[in-house]
Amino acid sequence: MPVSRLTAEGLAAQVAAVYADVEVRLLSMMARYLEQGTESPDWLNTKMAELQTFRRRAMRLIAAGEDEAVELLVGALHTAYMRGQASAQGELDTNPDLTDEAMPAPRFADLAIQSMVAAQSEQMRGLSLPIVRAAEGALRDIIVSVAAGSLTGATTRLQDAQTALDRLGSRGIRAVTDTAGRQWELQTYVEMATRTVTAQASVQGHLDRLEDAGINLFQVSDSPRECEICAPWEGKILSRGPVSAIQRNRRTGKMESVRVDGTVEEATRAGLFHPNCTHNLSGYIHGATRTSDAGNDRAGYEAQQRQRQMERKVREWKRREAVAVTPAAKARARAKVKAWRDAIDAHTKEHGLPRKRNRETLTAAR
Ligand SMILES: [Zn+2]
Repeated sequence: MPVSRLTAEGLAAQVAAVYADVEVRLLSMMARYLEQGTESPDWLNTKMAELQTFRRRAMRLIAAGEDEAVELLVGALHTAYMRGQASAQGELDTNPDLTDEAMPAPRFADLAIQSMVAAQSEQMRGLSLPIVRAAEGALRDIIVSVAAGSLTGATTRLQDAQTALDRLGSRGIRAVTDTAGRQWELQTYVEMATRTVTAQASVQGHLDRLEDAGINLFQVSDSPRECEICAPWEGKILSRGPVSAIQRNRRTGKMESVRVDGTVEEATRAGLFHPNCTHNLSGYIHGATRTSDAGNDRAGYEAQQRQRQMERKVREWKRREAVAVTPAAKARARAKVKAWRDAIDAHTKEHGLPRKRNRETLTAAR
């Protein structure tokens, strides 16, 4: 089974839930502070003086949440890595070209994800101070505006405080600002960050396992669904670091040159495995894996096989066009059919192959 964003699906929710809980408790703590002594003439000064106590209590609350979140995070990364290794094992088990490989035992997840755990835990712990600051800042703003009576013109401080708290409650404590200046909802931010890193862990587990089985090249899938960010990487052959471009052809046994298009890291940095990415990565075995590189002029057989594959794609998208019930789905399917036909056109011209139009129609025998 290839590895994709889906491999680590569902592992981030628990970690994010801790922060949602922390946020609710903080908001509740703020409400308790504000509701006390609203009738006192010296309310403003008393509340301002109490901010220090609030900060200390908020710190304790967040520290406890942080410990819990980090523990869950480590577990999530561990599980993601194991899932990645398992998906690779599934890929290896079903590949007849690999039956002669002596397989080493799977790697220990704890060791493999050590640096990832350290980096992500640190990032998670780095959230605590901004959260305390954001909460304290929000509380201070509310105290000042309530004391000034400028908020709503309501008759009591308590009513004013309620109005301000309602606003804060619906917006949430926004402690994280990204480089684009956008403020994030806490839970959303943690979930996104955790999903990204668990996806990385599952990919790492997958690639580690394949590498242990002697596979050091990987191929990006041709996603049936739109995923424009990584479309340029479709069908590309990737390595993890510098590898020899000379590989043994599993079918012929000959040593041949393989075009490596980049590293997994480069592709990931360029967007592969972004949130909602529909692409996946699987092991590439030279001579056994059908190449998707249209520009690679090797044996005529392989170019022909590629043409067959592209023809299947045209038929697939024609079927999709047939079952499309929305204009968007219809338009997308049509565009895909056209794109694949154009690709066949270019491919057949490049390799001097005859174009078999009957194979591109829906009713053609397969
Ligand atoms: Zn993608």
